[in-house]
Amino acid sequence: MRRINEDSMDDFKGLRITQLDTDDEDDEAATEPISIDEFDDYDDEEDDEDDEDCEPVMLGFVESPKFTWSSLRQLFPNLAGGVPAWLDPVNLPSGKSILCDLCEEPLQFVLQLYAPLTEKESAFHRTLFLFMCPSMSCLLRDQHEQWKRTPEKAMRSAKVFRCQLPRVNPFYSSEAPKQDGTDKPLSHGAPLCTWCGTWKGDKVCSGCKNARYCSPKHQVLHWRLGHKTECQQLRAVIETSDSSPVNNGVSLTQKQKVASKSLWKEFVLINEDESEYDTEMSENDEVAKPLVSKREVNDQMKSLMNDFEGDADKKSFVNFQQRVAKAPEQVLRYCRSSGSKPLWPIASGRVSKSEIPNCKSCGGPLCFEFQVMPQLLFFFGGKNDKESLDWATIVVYTCENSCESSLSYKEEFVWVQLHSQTT
Ligand SMILES: [Zn+2]
Ligand SMILES: [Zn+2]
Ligand SMILES: [Zn+2]
Ligand SMILES: [Zn+2]
Repeated sequence: MRRINEDSMDDFKGLRITQLDTDDEDDEAATEPISIDEFDDYDDEEDDEDDEDCEPVMLGFVESPKFTWSSLRQLFPNLAGGVPAWLDPVNLPSGKSILCDLCEEPLQFVLQLYAPLTEKESAFHRTLFLFMCPSMSCLLRDQHEQWKRTPEKAMRSAKVFRCQLPRVNPFYSSEAPKQDGTDKPLSHGAPLCTWCGTWKGDKVCSGCKNARYCSPKHQVLHWRLGHKTECQQLRAVIETSDSSPVNNGVSLTQKQKVASKSLWKEFVLINEDESEYDTEMSENDEVAKPLVSKREVNDQMKSLMNDFEGDADKKSFVNFQQRVAKAPEQVLRYCRSSGSKPLWPIASGRVSKSEIPNCKSCGGPLCFEFQVMPQLLFFFGGKNDKESLDWATIVVYTCENSCESSLSYKEEFVWVQLHSQTT
């Protein structure tokens, strides 16, 4: 088994080489974006015999962004919390697809993964975006919907979108980003909502003609929570200076300011092969640079254990916990291959093959791509009451063929497993 040494420690925190590197000889690995499908190659050189029946899994961990530019879209980042870095910055999801189908509030950004497919030119860049309604009562209703036999019409409070671009595209240079803070996209994206910074802001405040909103709901929220005063000030500035509205243009190397304080805490996701954690726990203690102690995470897991009733659930959870204990801070498990399966915390409430719908765009089969662990909520700072969002795991299935369509953001399939399947 490979010992983790100081040199490979740097790799964990740094970035990995993607196909952008192939004709860009002299750049160091650290200047390249993260590629989550690297484990395919990794498998060949690794002599790990322990998990012979398992597909190699890439684990994701949260880290605070190192630089203000770390999460900009031109760096093709892996993110959790905060706002998304849209891959196609113009043709964003719109209409009803941005709303929780149950309460009709705009969905909140959970995470995004940059997961290009080396074998597919049209998916040279490929990012998956996960959104959820932060209301637990919506998620419970979403659960009911999931069990209905007509998933096409289901009302969802969790949605995932896939966006992909060829190497030559209108938005980004075909060269790999330098990762030094100077990278710029080729053009501005669509203006975003002043309140959530997440969705397209195509409604403009009639007062200041400056603030923009994705929805009447966010306009009302912003008005109540500060824009009422701000709007008058902005109007005064515009009238006296007869210039165009201030801070209208967002710089290409900065993120737009977001007014909402209720977004989840912003992280970047770093990834590591699960096989790196196959050594004894004591040797691995510092591998993932945990933001919280293992004990805290384990305590959280133990309290989840109390929720289970059946023996099958207990057995499933013991198996789940043993696997997760290798790296308890993992918030994500990624494995896109035809034979891969999610690691289910609970036996009941798993999705069966027949319940996984076909691709909404091409009608072809979906395959498992990644799952989000409940630990993410811990980092998001979830409260421990009945109203706050909670899940056992969120499993995402995507089009096996990663198909093309005229829609830039294609909705894929999310299955949410809750700790308790009652209600
Ligand atoms: Zn909702
Ligand atoms: Zn908004
Ligand atoms: Zn205004
Ligand atoms: Zn498809």
